Amino acid sequence: MNFTKVVETKWNKSVADCSNEELYIALLEMVKDLAKEKESNAGKKKVYYISAEFLIGKLLSNNLINLGVYDEVKGILENAGKNLAEIEEIEMEPSLGNGGLGRLAACFLDSMATLGLNGDGVGLNYHFGLFKQVFDNNLQKETPNPWITENSWLNRTEVCYPVDFGGMRVWSRMYDIDVCGYNNRTTKLHLFDIESVSEIMVDDTIHFDKEDIARNLTLFLYPDDSDEQGRLLRVYQQYFMVSNAAHLILDEAVEKGSNLYDLADYVAIQINDTHPSMVIPELIRQLGQRGMLMDDAIAVVKKVCAYTNHTILAEALEKWPLYFLEKAVPQLMPIIRELDNRVRKDITDESTYIIKDNLVHMAHMDIHYGYSVNGVAYLHTEILKNTELNNFYKLYPEKFNNKTNGITFRRWFMECNPELSSYVTSLIGEGWKKDASELDKLSTYLDDAEVQSQILAIKEGKKVDLKNYLAATQGLNVNPESIFDIQVKRLHEYKRQQLNVLYIIHKYMEIKAGNKPSKPITVFFGAKAAPAYIIAKDIIHLILCLQQIINNDPDVSPYLNVFMVENYNVTLAERLIPACDISEQISLASKEASGTGNMKFMLNGAVTLGTMDGANVEIAELVGKDNIYTFGEDSQTVIDRYERGDYCSRAYYEADPELKRAVDFIVSDTVMNVGTRENLERLYNELLNKDWFMTFPDFQEYVATREKAYADYENREEWARKMLVNISKAGFFSSDRTIEQYNADIWKLN
Ligand SMILES: *Cc1c(COP(=O)(O)O)cnc(C)c1O
Repeated sequence: MNFTKVVETKWNKSVADCSNEELYIALLEMVKDLAKEKESNAGKKKVYYISAEFLIGKLLSNNLINLGVYDEVKGILENAGKNLAEIEEIEMEPSLGNGGLGRLAACFLDSMATLGLNGDGVGLNYHFGLFKQVFDNNLQKETPNPWITENSWLNRTEVCYPVDFGGMRVWSRMYDIDVCGYNNRTTKLHLFDIESVSEIMVDDTIHFDKEDIARNLTLFLYPDDSDEQGRLLRVYQQYFMVSNAAHLILDEAVEKGSNLYDLADYVAIQINDTHPSMVIPELIRQLGQRGMLMDDAIAVVKKVCAYTNHTILAEALEKWPLYFLEKAVPQLMPIIRELDNRVRKDITDESTYIIKDNLVHMAHMDIHYGYSVNGVAYLHTEILKNTELNNFYKLYPEKFNNKTNGITFRRWFMECNPELSSYVTSLIGEGWKKDASELDKLSTYLDDAEVQSQILAIKEGKKVDLKNYLAATQGLNVNPESIFDIQVKRLHEYKRQQLNVLYIIHKYMEIKAGNKPSKPITVFFGAKAAPAYIIAKDIIHLILCLQQIINNDPDVSPYLNVFMVENYNVTLAERLIPACDISEQISLASKEASGTGNMKFMLNGAVTLGTMDGANVEIAELVGKDNIYTFGEDSQTVIDRYERGDYCSRAYYEADPELKRAVDFIVSDTVMNVGTRENLERLYNELLNKDWFMTFPDFQEYVATREKAYADYENREEWARKMLVNISKAGFFSSDRTIEQYNADIWKLN
């Protein structure tokens, strides 16, 4: 296919004469056509990856790369005086996910297509997705993020199903987005919507009438679950997703010749966290409608469904009140009760029952009635087996397995960092693109002075790129000569942005006292907080106040700057990560299941400063202790302390004058003058009286380790060597490896 021809046929003029908008539309159509030409795997067995979130990011460049036409298109555009990056600005980022879990699902689809596996994603077509974050008066405000424009990647299909809720029936429609594998097949992301959806319910806030299910079901991703109506709406969304998925799955299997009793020969279903868990009773219900007896239907489902656990945070494990389900999905209740009764008959350990205290424990249903339970990093899976899900592990040791997360190198290396990835190719050839473990070939260049200076120069270039981008898009004034120290991820207390903040305050005071760093430091944050998560929003408030204070203080700003970028999303991640020197991965040990941001940074030559948590443990093992900065209490110490319940943050505060000085600064006049008393005092009291995620015990070691990293940065050859080690060991974290393991151990597609 020839892009010049496509443009001329479509618009009747040359590429040079087209507007960026016209070129974008032509590219969109061309890519859709190219994707259609690629075959999809028609094998007998298919995996359905059901997920409430797919944080796919912009698709234009990614699809051009994966279809193998990126360089050609870029060249044609350049010859006509056009710029692909500018054209890409027209594309809206679909915000169909909160963070890591949704991004993982997107990476998995890319890898499934690239490996040529027969697998599709199934999710929901949220019209406004996750909110768009804006800062106003140093506070986060949430606004709608309409991403579905007239020209989008969605393809309307003719697939429609009726979905029944208590007292109401809605009709669905399926929209597809093509997922292009890298030089291979395509698969599909199926996004279900309601036919009766109404966008006029939304004004310029994200508040709307949560009662009117038939019109608002697919408007937003995970509406506020602080209030009961929001939580109820979420149940409706989840059932809508899985009822459609079950319908589609059974239709496709029958089409291919399944008699449904042999469904496991045709289908594997991966349940991504508990959001799609109702697919278990729903499949049983639909199999019943198609004439199967309950015993047989349960036996079939047990061979088809596999569950991925993403968290050990108790508050994140979904438990729905019985009366919610009675109201929203009464047809499932007899089935869920039957599933629970069978557990009660066979098993004495009451802690594993599905219905307890009038709550339905979704994860319990997944574990009893699925054939596989996997964690997402080595440490996480060990904690599940030995602690959190130990009672289940004792019942079903054979179901438990680990699948350490991964990221697609197409988006997170080739697309976001063409300078570095093509330099790597010039050294070791193209093989790593299909077999990421070949990055290890870089090991022969660790001490090569020319290679070291090249990768330092590439990093400097990406820092200048980021400076220019943030100046143009957010009006920020960044010093590209400084050390770029970055923490970007959802705002959550367990991820401990507040620990990073305590360091910044400490450093600010040191500089004020005359202890100036030899190299200037720029600390970047990017993070959205859930709209109802008060303390998380207070932390954002404090960061924005510090940004204002520090960047405007002539004593301090030559040495230290703080920037919180607005509306952190995939597009921003692709700019920030290649420019990073130090990657902050400082969650409380045992709390971050895996993390995937840590992997993206490592691949792009950042050095990790982190706790021994999630996949950081595996990073440390791969790169060795000289190429990562670790600190903090280990997961067992943390788990034991929670067990004893004797943590007292105030005792640490009283015993450590530097810590006390930093904490007290939160409510000092300096901060109060630019901030809001209510937010700052609440955060101060929370830290002093609770500090549930134990930042204080790790404070001094964090400060010392961070200072060590900054000092080491001065030796540029040594630092370049660390960068090279990190890049060379990142191959393990390719999602191609992860997906190969899912297939080998769980899905077993032919
Ligand atoms: C990778 C990614 C995440 C996950 O980051 P973690 O540091 O693993 O929590 C969240 N949001 C976006 C936009 C991402 O690209």
